[in-house]
Amino acid sequence: MSIVLCSWGRSIEGGTAEALTLAHRLSVESGMALRWVVAGAAVPEADALAGRHGVTGLDVISDPRLDAGAPDTVVAALAQYCQQVQPRTLLFNQTAGARLIAPRLAGRLRVPVTMNAFAVTTADQGLQVSATAFGGDTNVVYALSAPVNVIGIVTTGITAQAAAVPTRPERRAVAVDLTQVEERFTVTSAPRTEGPRLEDAEVIVAGGRGLGSAQSFELVKQLADALGGMWGGSRAIVDDGWIESSRQVGLTGKITRPALYVAIGISGASQHMAGCSAARVIVAINKDRDASIYRYARYGIVADALEVVPELIKAAKA
Ligand SMILES: Cc1cc2nc3c(=O)[nH]c(=O)nc-3n(C[C@H](O)[C@H](O)[C@H](O)COP(=O)(O)OP(=O)(O)OC[C@H]3O[C@@H](n4cnc5c(N)ncnc54)[C@H](O)[C@@H]3O)c2cc1C
Repeated sequence: MSIVLCSWGRSIEGGTAEALTLAHRLSVESGMALRWVVAGAAVPEADALAGRHGVTGLDVISDPRLDAGAPDTVVAALAQYCQQVQPRTLLFNQTAGARLIAPRLAGRLRVPVTMNAFAVTTADQGLQVSATAFGGDTNVVYALSAPVNVIGIVTTGITAQAAAVPTRPERRAVAVDLTQVEERFTVTSAPRTEGPRLEDAEVIVAGGRGLGSAQSFELVKQLADALGGMWGGSRAIVDDGWIESSRQVGLTGKITRPALYVAIGISGASQHMAGCSAARVIVAINKDRDASIYRYARYGIVADALEVVPELIKAAKA
């Protein structure tokens, strides 16, 4: 009987160490072995992390078709893996990709899926899962009694911690047959993904509707440049067409964990905070002193962003 964390693609996504931390705690509590299946080319990175986080077995599925992370191929590979290994609990680091893969894998295996989990513990009849619901506004506790469960973990609230006793994971190659898999969707126009990713940025300056216009949003880009960071924004301004969706931070956007997150003209809705609350330091600039963002910010400037940000750009460049 085992707990398995599922990863795929060319690299290990941010949040994986945190997901492994939760998975290891669950494995200690339940007495079940912790395995990690890596479908794709990210194995060298996985090797180093696995031992640090108490993984006992690293299962590797190598097929060039998996490197691109195409959903039908990944689901087929993981489903075949599950038939061979028969895990009890399948965990996913809930990235944008995992939101697509985990429910489909659960459907393929005909087992329940629980997404948006932030804590998982054992209970008398199975597992107890704490998760957010209704777009992040509510927390719920699910009692899972099915013999096999798929769970997506939101890792922003979890601090990565190495296992007390490091392991030397046994590495095992798992053979799957992907020759019959056909991708049912073709991506004809993908968001630009070259260059650094928001998920990996150490400094992020993000703007929201409070900036008033796409033109004023240029200030966000200038401050990000001056601080040597990346820029992003809230869903409100993606919906209004100011910035492309690949720059959206939040529950339905990018999950980030920078050292510094500067939120400008952003209200601090729970769905936005789901993508940035793991930042080490949040600085908020909002003219409403009662804005929710101030519940999360370590430093705040209650002021008109259009007056303050040009000054900050000057100071950062000085
Ligand atoms: C299922 C679901 C998923 C969602 N996913 C996401 C997501 O991934 N990411 C996301 O961001 N949102 C998401 N949302 C939307 C979210 O609920 C909010 O509507 C959105 O984050 C609000 O964006 P905002 O803070 O930019 O705008 P607003 O809520 O309009 O806030 C603007 C803020 O700017 C301040 N302001 C105004 N003028 C100025 C000024 N001159 N100077 C300084 N401050 C000023 C105001 O006081 C206000 O606090 C989701 C919603 C749902 C229901």
